[in-house]
Amino acid sequence: MLADIKGLNEECGVFGIWGHPDAAQLTYYGLHSLQHRGQEGAGIVVTDGERLRTHKGSGLVNDVFSKGEIEGLIGHGAIGHVRYSTAGGNELANVQPLLFRSQTSSLALAHNGNLVNANALKHQLESQGSIFQTTSDTEVLAHLIKRSGYFTLTEKVKNALTMLKGAYAFLVMTENEMMVALDPNGLRPLSLGMLGDAYVVASETCAFDVVGATYVRDVQPGELLIINEDGLTVDTFSTSVQRSMCSMEYIYFSRPDSNIEGINVHAARKSLGKKMYEEAPIEADVVTGVPDSSISAAIGYAEASGIPYEIGLIKNRYVGRTFIQPSQELRELGVKMKLSPVRAIVEGKRVVMVDDSIVRGTTSRRIVKMLRAAGATEVHVRITAPPIAHPCYYGIDTSERAELIASKYSVDEIRDIIGADSLAFISVEGLMEGIGRSNAEPNCGQCLACFTGRYPTEIYPDTVLPYEKELV
Ligand code: SF4
Repeated sequence: MLADIKGLNEECGVFGIWGHPDAAQLTYYGLHSLQHRGQEGAGIVVTDGERLRTHKGSGLVNDVFSKGEIEGLIGHGAIGHVRYSTAGGNELANVQPLLFRSQTSSLALAHNGNLVNANALKHQLESQGSIFQTTSDTEVLAHLIKRSGYFTLTEKVKNALTMLKGAYAFLVMTENEMMVALDPNGLRPLSLGMLGDAYVVASETCAFDVVGATYVRDVQPGELLIINEDGLTVDTFSTSVQRSMCSMEYIYFSRPDSNIEGINVHAARKSLGKKMYEEAPIEADVVTGVPDSSISAAIGYAEASGIPYEIGLIKNRYVGRTFIQPSQELRELGVKMKLSPVRAIVEGKRVVMVDDSIVRGTTSRRIVKMLRAAGATEVHVRITAPPIAHPCYYGIDTSERAELIASKYSVDEIRDIIGADSLAFISVEGLMEGIGRSNAEPNCGQCLACFTGRYPTEIYPDTVLPYEKELV
């Protein structure tokens, strides 16, 4: 739903294209379709085979790029990035892609995810003489590549990637090639497509539809794709792989028209809504979803229950994103500005309010209150994620543990805090079944760490949480 007021934020989206004369323009459109993954900064680096050019800035893609700037980015290869950041401001130096120039060849990097051993690696690299230009974990990869004793760029990149722990979908570009890497757990989505003879990669397949590309396949955990004038070479940098796709991508982050590993996000959410009804049925008059990301699940709940789905809440689309809200009061005001109940729908009705998650509980409390003020006689809250009781170290800003309401209170207590007549969260099993995962892999190939506390990678004592990133 409303990411920036809820305290649940995606950390980035990446887009890359190789072998097309309008590479920058297509990247611009691709980034537009990934805008929901980050709104605080955007950038593109382009290559014409001889040099890398870049333009980046703070704000939305539309704010950062004018027609003239896009026209000035001439080349056949491009990588782009949209970024979300929290505390500490949005320093331009941290906006990606990061570009490193050297006498031999330049290097551009775009990263979605969060490295859990970035601090440890930074200490090590600084003790060897590295000087960091940014406070971003992404820069670590550039230093590791540059310092690698291997001879070819591919070997250097592979060697550097083996030292990273955590979540990363990386796009690396030099004057002559683009490389695409996904961490051994495949925590973040990354797909490969084709546009004529050009190769396209994106965090979500919705970007392919926008530029007219055809989906080819998902990038696999531990894979390194090398794309240059010889075409595509598939390599691997790790054989110790265990797919652990972020469950929140299905529940909340990705666009409903995207497919992740062949599963359509809208269909998965609808099925979660159905599962939710099986687990927690209730007698009511209308089902409504909190826009936008909970609408698919609400439709699923309505279909399974036979209770009509109605638009009981309206999102005000013309309120800009309220980026960094320092106090609880301002966050609450943000909810008021962005959502309105539809009195004609909810007045005198028993309402099922379907939402995708509860982080701090503040937003849910406000919405329940709003529905009651608009005349709802009962409000039953159904959440299509299990309780989020553990922080995410992999690029999702879920707040620290102390702020997570489910880390401190039982379901009944949360129900009372948010003022609902009843409250139910989907079970972890219901989540996996709802997404349609088979039981072939542990956790069905999903990361469930923010619900279960079982992290798919090692977590370091000084692992930097996404919301602390800027403070390092
Ligand atoms: S901890 Fe939660 S939000 Fe983070 S990657 Fe895992 S499932 Fe996604």
